[in-house]
Amino acid sequence: MIVQTKSDYEMLLSRLRDKLGNTTKKQASRLELPTPQIIWVGQRTIFRNFMDFPKALNRDPEKLLLYLNKELASAGYIAGERVIFLGRKEPSSFGALIDRYVKDYLICPVCGSPDTRTEKNKKLGFLLCEACGAKSSIKGNYA
Ligand SMILES: [Zn+2]
Repeated sequence: MIVQTKSDYEMLLSRLRDKLGNTTKKQASRLELPTPQIIWVGQRTIFRNFMDFPKALNRDPEKLLLYLNKELASAGYIAGERVIFLGRKEPSSFGALIDRYVKDYLICPVCGSPDTRTEKNKKLGFLLCEACGAKSSIKGNYA
């Protein structure tokens, strides 16, 4: 059984773009993310193009995986380009989680640019913006 989440995810992404467009008209930074390819095989959920995401987001794959594992209450592991989760996870949840990850760990809250990097200082995570230079604290633990 193959389940695609394309429409849901694209909807979220365009909503995010709209929101960004309102705050960053000049910069018009665009975040091009692929659509998560989620399939069920037996009692496993396979995120087929997982590795495209840390690449596109310029983030550590292990951190992104930790985030997904916590949110999905799973123990997925990386296998090549894919991540294999135990249990059947709702395919539409992946796009939504990545969307949230982008908001919490990637988008500069000051200017809305996705051109950021993270820094850790005494266990606190910070988001450093390449566009406006702002340094913002990150609430979550998966920076
Ligand atoms: Zn900024």
